[in-house]
Amino acid sequence: MNTHNKIALVTGASSGIGEATALRLVKAGYKVYGTSRRGAQAGQAKPFEMLALDVTQDESAEAAVRTLIAREGRIDLLVNNAGFGVAPAGAEESSIAQAQAIFDTNFFGLVRMTRAVLPHMRRQGSGRIINMGSVFGFLPMPYMALYAATKHAVEGYSESLDHELRTRGIRVSVIEPANTNTQFDANLLEPDEKLEAYREARAAVTQKMSEFVEQGDKPSVVADTVLKAALAVNPKLRYTAGPRAGGLQWLRRFMPAGLVDTGIRKNLQLDARALSPSRATVLEK
Ligand code: NDP
Repeated sequence: MNTHNKIALVTGASSGIGEATALRLVKAGYKVYGTSRRGAQAGQAKPFEMLALDVTQDESAEAAVRTLIAREGRIDLLVNNAGFGVAPAGAEESSIAQAQAIFDTNFFGLVRMTRAVLPHMRRQGSGRIINMGSVFGFLPMPYMALYAATKHAVEGYSESLDHELRTRGIRVSVIEPANTNTQFDANLLEPDEKLEAYREARAAVTQKMSEFVEQGDKPSVVADTVLKAALAVNPKLRYTAGPRAGGLQWLRRFMPAGLVDTGIRKNLQLDARALSPSRATVLEK
């Protein structure tokens, strides 16, 4: 696909995967607009322009797209990347307000942006929407329930949308990265209703997750996958990013569900932890 004069909008481009994606798209020839809640200030020294956007605000989403359309007259690619997580914790350790907050960014933020660009893409008769999912969108982990739920919502929404829009020249894909080295961990929200009953499990899973993050992929791995999806003549609905995510997808698809269940429980020592400390120690040896 020819990227000359193609206009791309990447949400959450101030750091991590969004920034790497914006840079990759610039290199591939797109004219790129990134976004940050801090606006142009977050774009200093970046080779793409930065628009102010808070994806949790209807008016902010509409204003960012209005500005882009006023300048360029069209939008060819939307990458819905902005998102965050809640630090590993029991599902009941997050209040309803916190559950709604994570959905408001990770899911409804993407819905707001999609609704804002679609009238323009329909008018053009073309467009690509690429949504940032996660391996947790097909393989949910314990103590990550809310985050995994938002990414499952992204998967379902994207699949429906791709069916609806295909005959209008618009395609939708989901990118599924594994752990990636970004500011994601530094930006995790702490659960807002911590319970003593989960203290030990929370600490153990947090430790395990930190190990995964240290072995994480570079954001460029995800950025390359976004570009591949954007340029594909016949894009797939789902793209895992990098070999680790691909391996997890393979496990989910081909391993019997019972084995996957046992593997997760063993890896995170979920059953040993539910027992008394002395019995757990025996089991772990
Ligand atoms: P970062 O924390 O580095 O980047 C998050 C980006 O999202 C920032 O640019 C931030 O911009 C933006 N953002 C957060 N909240 C909002 C909001 N309300 N409105 C607008 N922008 C917002 O994390 P990553 O790069 O790792 O995360 C990017 C995406 O990748 C997320 O959707 C995440 O779920 C997904 N992902 C990450 C993985 C990982 O291991 N890192 C693995 C799988 C998926 P600013 O603060 O400047 O407004």
